[in-house]
Amino acid sequence: MLLALDLHSHSGYSGGVGKISLEKIRESMRKKGIDVFGTGDCLHPFWLNTLKGKLIEVKEGIFALDKNDDRFFILQTEIVLTAPITKNKRKSVHTVLLIPSFETAEKIITLFLNYGVKNTIGRPFVTLNSIKDVAEFLFTLKSIDKQIVIFPAHIMTPDGIFGSNNPITYLEDFFGEFAKEIKVLETGLSADPEMLEKIPQCRERNYISNSDCHSHAIHRIGREFTLVEVKELSFKEIAKAIEGNGIVSTYEFNPREGKFYASGHRKGKFNHPEHFYSENIDNLLCPHCGKPFTMGVKHRIEQLNKNQKLNIPQKKERKFKRIIPLVEVIAYGLGVKTLTSKRVIAIYDKIVETMGSEIGLWLAEEQEIIGKLSDFLRDNVLKTILAVHKGNFDFNPPGFDGEYGKLVIFFN
Ligand SMILES: [Zn+2]
Ligand SMILES: [Zn+2]
Repeated sequence: MLLALDLHSHSGYSGGVGKISLEKIRESMRKKGIDVFGTGDCLHPFWLNTLKGKLIEVKEGIFALDKNDDRFFILQTEIVLTAPITKNKRKSVHTVLLIPSFETAEKIITLFLNYGVKNTIGRPFVTLNSIKDVAEFLFTLKSIDKQIVIFPAHIMTPDGIFGSNNPITYLEDFFGEFAKEIKVLETGLSADPEMLEKIPQCRERNYISNSDCHSHAIHRIGREFTLVEVKELSFKEIAKAIEGNGIVSTYEFNPREGKFYASGHRKGKFNHPEHFYSENIDNLLCPHCGKPFTMGVKHRIEQLNKNQKLNIPQKKERKFKRIIPLVEVIAYGLGVKTLTSKRVIAIYDKIVETMGSEIGLWLAEEQEIIGKLSDFLRDNVLKTILAVHKGNFDFNPPGFDGEYGKLVIFFN
């Protein structure tokens, strides 16, 4: 069976948002077509209580709000591992855990006591004294329950394993001995498989894509997701699929949209009168102030490509598709800015009802989309959807130094 997974999210306890209810998440999962969702923050005592009170285990390691529900949850959290990488530099690395049972979640919380973790925020910090201790901590987690899945989150963002904050060259430079246990990497919004293939250590690992959402809004949940093929619905099968050979395709943001894709200095920063940016990695000094640009992901990847002295060929075919949240596509087609206006949502709901789900739309053939949607969609909106479906869009200028890239859709 084919499953759409979105296995990295956050609850209201990670800051930034108000209350998120599991019922509202389920409603958005249905519209999007997400089958299995990571609960986020499952080690946080309050959120864990909510999860325990609301979710029932319907298959091994798989939870739902009702016995006969068709939307499923996996216990999941993100943790921040921090450790010194040199005498006076500490690196923080966001890392996702998928946890097979409430019992295992409780055991991890108990383990936290040994490491002095203040488990009071959604995304707990684990402070370690050396790279050796990072590895030991992760091996200890695995010894609690070998089914726990551990993968580095959004690996190219500043707080990702290969990000620009206190940069390192190899996975081993932070994860130590545990690096060889890491089988899957999260692409994050700022990178996609095509970019990651330039990094030798990425080539021998799988890629997973998740939304990392902090909200149940339909342009957040499932904004990135992963399709897997599994024999049956269970935690074990899903773990096997993402760490083994079950990934069918990932659905990704265009990394050029990301706030730190190119290198640059944005308008207004230190009195820069206009935007200065560069995609050319030989050209990284700002022509205005003469200082090095804020480094973008594109440049970081080129660095890793050069610095990782490993001869690892590109082995796997990476299937992926670039998408834009459908409400954004509709708003673009209508020429309006508000994604949540009644008009946009009314069109969104009609499309989702007709195509089964938003993912159903992206997976359908063009002829089917035209056949089903042309009756009720305005010409411009349909044209915009078909252009995005074909991949005829770009972000120009791309994002840099905290500015998002600007969406441009091509019609021809
Ligand atoms: Zn994170
Ligand atoms: Zn400058």
